[in-house]
Amino acid sequence: MTRLVFKLLLSVIALPLAVVVFFLAMTVADALGLFRWYGGTRPLISELAQSVPVGLAALTVAVLWTLVWRRRIGWTSWRRVATVLVMMGCLAMPVASAVLQYNGAHGDLPFLVTGLYVLLVPVLLAWIWRSSRREEAERLDAWLAAPTPQCPYCQANLTGRWAPQCPYCGGDLAARASAGANA
Ligand SMILES: [Zn+2]
Repeated sequence: MTRLVFKLLLSVIALPLAVVVFFLAMTVADALGLFRWYGGTRPLISELAQSVPVGLAALTVAVLWTLVWRRRIGWTSWRRVATVLVMMGCLAMPVASAVLQYNGAHGDLPFLVTGLYVLLVPVLLAWIWRSSRREEAERLDAWLAAPTPQCPYCQANLTGRWAPQCPYCGGDLAARASAGANA
């Protein structure tokens, strides 16, 4: 399994893991008695107990994806800020939604907006992290400008080949590399 396949697998596993986090948070809230109230309007803590687990699930995906892809993301200051904002939104949106619903504002709309935001978190992160056309062009330029790796024995083009031996002449490339002669 290549590292890329491993990273993709971890990214996919983050989604069911988020569902587990959601149910764990709901179970804890239930065990704490946060869903039980007697008469009158639902207390704020119950509203929070209903919406925060959704945000925790989204935060799980955001944090895991950031950890998995951190080395492949071309970090710029705006990408850093946007990523942190998306993560903060995972908690801020459910809290704001709970406060609004506690105050009886807009019925279920705040919770629906929060749910939509949570579903959009993976899309937002992918959009924030995608490379721009200019970055892609720079990467291609750098690749094209790099000297072509040649076999030191037969001068064959070895681009993309990492075997310890030259596939054309059988020259021992590992020995040359360790001797520092493969510059
Ligand atoms: Zn060779």
